[in-house]
Amino acid sequence: MLICDTHCDTLYRMAKHPRKKRDVTPERLRTGGVSLQTMAMFVGDSSEIGEIETFFPRMERALARWKKNTGMKQVLSPLEAVEGESRIMLSVEGCDLLSRGMEVLDHWEEIGVRMAALTWNYPNCVAEPHCGDQERGLTPFGREAVRAMQRKKIAVDVSHLNARGVEDLLEMGVVPLASHSCCRALCDVSRNLNDEQLRHIFAAGGYVGVNFYTAFLKAAGPASISDVLAHMEHMMACGGEGKIGFGSDFDGITSAPEGLKHPGDLPALADAMRERFGEETARGIAGENLLRYWERIA
Ligand SMILES: [Zn+2]
Repeated sequence: MLICDTHCDTLYRMAKHPRKKRDVTPERLRTGGVSLQTMAMFVGDSSEIGEIETFFPRMERALARWKKNTGMKQVLSPLEAVEGESRIMLSVEGCDLLSRGMEVLDHWEEIGVRMAALTWNYPNCVAEPHCGDQERGLTPFGREAVRAMQRKKIAVDVSHLNARGVEDLLEMGVVPLASHSCCRALCDVSRNLNDEQLRHIFAAGGYVGVNFYTAFLKAAGPASISDVLAHMEHMMACGGEGKIGFGSDFDGITSAPEGLKHPGDLPALADAMRERFGEETARGIAGENLLRYWERIA
């Protein structure tokens, strides 16, 4: 079974807290049978552009170290994912650095960034976040940036974006992905997508990776694998059949469901999916749906 994950914050952890234990390790990716792990360069919790500017190269170096130490291949498309081998793909979480100029995007393309979340949790030159001004959508510069991303075939990631921004993208004809988001109908937090958004994203051919963060899965108390399945089921009821997958957010979250603490636990999730949804749907969610999404945006 092909297993793909559209989001983890491991590079940030490596660069920011090199001594801290990590959820994502090469061993766990291998024992979990993960074929494709997308690794994000995350802007971090400071909106200070100078800080971001000095921090991004540290994540690039963390990626170089990861590749050197593990021998894992970095790919430019999920279509290069293969069973029996763990490969990695690069993404960006927070396009704040584009305020330095569109050449930054050329650099990202050069180093292999293949998806980019427009914002993290604060407004930037491109757009407003889920927790920001709900009246404001993409900025004119943001629209320009998105068009440039489309030319470069960099997937436009709407996780962390506000609803207006998502609508603006859909009106522009973008086929977005939400790399790590859950359903607001099941857990009412602003980071999650409401049913209307889910329907619109899926109707446009978009894709959603289910986030494993306990606080996005369940309003209170510990979460379990069955909560993850409930979000998948709800997304499929909103038109997401064939269009959802895993967006673990490992190394970016402080609590995960029982039995789903790191990539080594993904086979247990896959088994539960098989039991609940059947082999074919489970295979789709585990990885193949991401490949189909990539074909749609190519
Ligand atoms: Zn995030």
